[in-house]
Amino acid sequence: MDLAASVTRQLARVVSPTGGGGSKQLYFLAFVAVFTLMISFSSPVFVQSGPYLAGLVLLALTTVAAFTVPWERLPTWCGAVIPVLDIVSVGLFRDVLRTEASAVSLLTIIPAIWLVARLRIPGAVIATLCVTVAIAGPALVRSAPDINSTDIARALLLPFTVLQVGLLAAGALKVLDGQARRMTATLREKEELLEATATWERLLENILDSVPVGIVVVDRDGHDVLMNRAQKAFHAHCSPSDIQNPEESQLLLRYPGTTTVIPPEQRPVRRAVLQETFSNYVISAGPPGQVGTKFSTSARQILDRHGNRDGAVVVFSDVSSYVDAVRAQQQFVAAVSHELRTPLTSVIGYLELAMDEEELPKGAAMHLAVANRNAEQLLTLVQDLLHDQVTRSTVDGLELRPHRVSLIAQEVLESAAPQAEKRGISLSGEIDESPVMLVDAKRLTQAISNLLSNALKYTPRGGRIQVHCRLVDGAVEVSVIDSGIGMSDQEQTNLFTEYYRTETARSSPIPGHGIGLALTRALVLAHGGQISVRSTPGTGSTFTIRLSVDRVSTS
Ligand code: ADP
Repeated sequence: MDLAASVTRQLARVVSPTGGGGSKQLYFLAFVAVFTLMISFSSPVFVQSGPYLAGLVLLALTTVAAFTVPWERLPTWCGAVIPVLDIVSVGLFRDVLRTEASAVSLLTIIPAIWLVARLRIPGAVIATLCVTVAIAGPALVRSAPDINSTDIARALLLPFTVLQVGLLAAGALKVLDGQARRMTATLREKEELLEATATWERLLENILDSVPVGIVVVDRDGHDVLMNRAQKAFHAHCSPSDIQNPEESQLLLRYPGTTTVIPPEQRPVRRAVLQETFSNYVISAGPPGQVGTKFSTSARQILDRHGNRDGAVVVFSDVSSYVDAVRAQQQFVAAVSHELRTPLTSVIGYLELAMDEEELPKGAAMHLAVANRNAEQLLTLVQDLLHDQVTRSTVDGLELRPHRVSLIAQEVLESAAPQAEKRGISLSGEIDESPVMLVDAKRLTQAISNLLSNALKYTPRGGRIQVHCRLVDGAVEVSVIDSGIGMSDQEQTNLFTEYYRTETARSSPIPGHGIGLALTRALVLAHGGQISVRSTPGTGSTFTIRLSVDRVSTS
């Protein structure tokens, strides 16, 4: 194996146009030695002649010089010395064998090609000159007395051949040189590019690991491509103790404030893999029975340079302290408003009693009426405040009872009819009876009412609204379809985020706070369902609530 490798290496050096001068010379010497041996068997007299022996000695000395002189440290032109001496040796052999084996002069082609390989076109010229002097010259001198044009032509045949071969070899080497230069430049560029990529990768890794939010990147097939340090910690935090390296579907994730486990296709990474883009989707993570850590999650799709989907990035940020602070504030406001309501009710009661007195001076009756009006206004404000807090905490405890969603949809439709008529909007329904399911009828009524009241708000007079309730693929789907102002794709991205209102809604006189859809979504998710929207600006919107018939649970 080692021998084979060493022979291969040696051959590569010999084949190389520029390297391995010593090896080439050794092979040349070996061939001349074999050639000489063969001649010496039949015609020893040639080999013993002075010029032939001189040629052999010169060849031997040249071979020694090829190995001992540090040619690579000398100027380039010095590389011509060895091939020139070889041509001179061949000239001496040729002189002796001119009648018996004149073809020996063909050996000059080999050193001639070495010369070209080292010096390119100047090498071809030097080789031609040397062959002319060492071989053609002596031949012409010998036939000098009665030289004719045939003798001259014959003598010049070899120098001409050497020149042709040399020029062809120089041309081929020039092409190879160009290719080698281009390849070297390309390789250098690639190396620089690799170096730059590695530097960026390290930088990106450091940045990703130093941010306090969890980041997951998945490819278009949903496989994890990248997960930063914070995200690994999040994963560990909500992994079941008996499963190592759990998948997202096995993580301990619940809807915030509930014990409802988030179904696999509602989990943030899965939603991103299903090509959803969302913001501020809050989930609770941690073992059941403990106050979970709240994470706000957002997802964006990654597009390649052709605009095709190439994966998704999902970001998890711990919002527990924010959520706790908001909850504490809500509880405080609820408590204060509750405390204010009781004395206020009493104040209004006594004011009404006082106003019922018949012998009140006119001025006092007017003052009491103003006081009563303001007290009533204050009570409405306090009640609204309390109602808002109660509404917001709805998701905290669902009361699931057997009920038909189709009935709820029908009731919501009927109660919206007078308002639709007043606003000049045609309201119709296609309600198929749905199976009995475990739902919180009050909360679901609230969710569907929110969608319908939005449809009424955002559909101009003369428009059309339809409410559909259907059983599709084992799920009940309630859709509210309007022919209203609609929304762009960009506006739909943040639609379910609290306090978000579209630009069109904000610049219109239509009142709103951007709370309804966030709450509706939370209610639907608490039922283990999904909510989606399809909308086109100026044409209308369709909001759909989907509740799986067998997946409504509180576990
Ligand atoms: P709001 O009180 O502003 O209506 P919502 O949370 O119910 O709050 O809705 C959020 C935003 O979504 C609205 O401000 C509006 O821009 C948009 N929106 C909701 N429903 C519709 C609809 N049916 N048509 C057009 N835009 C809608």
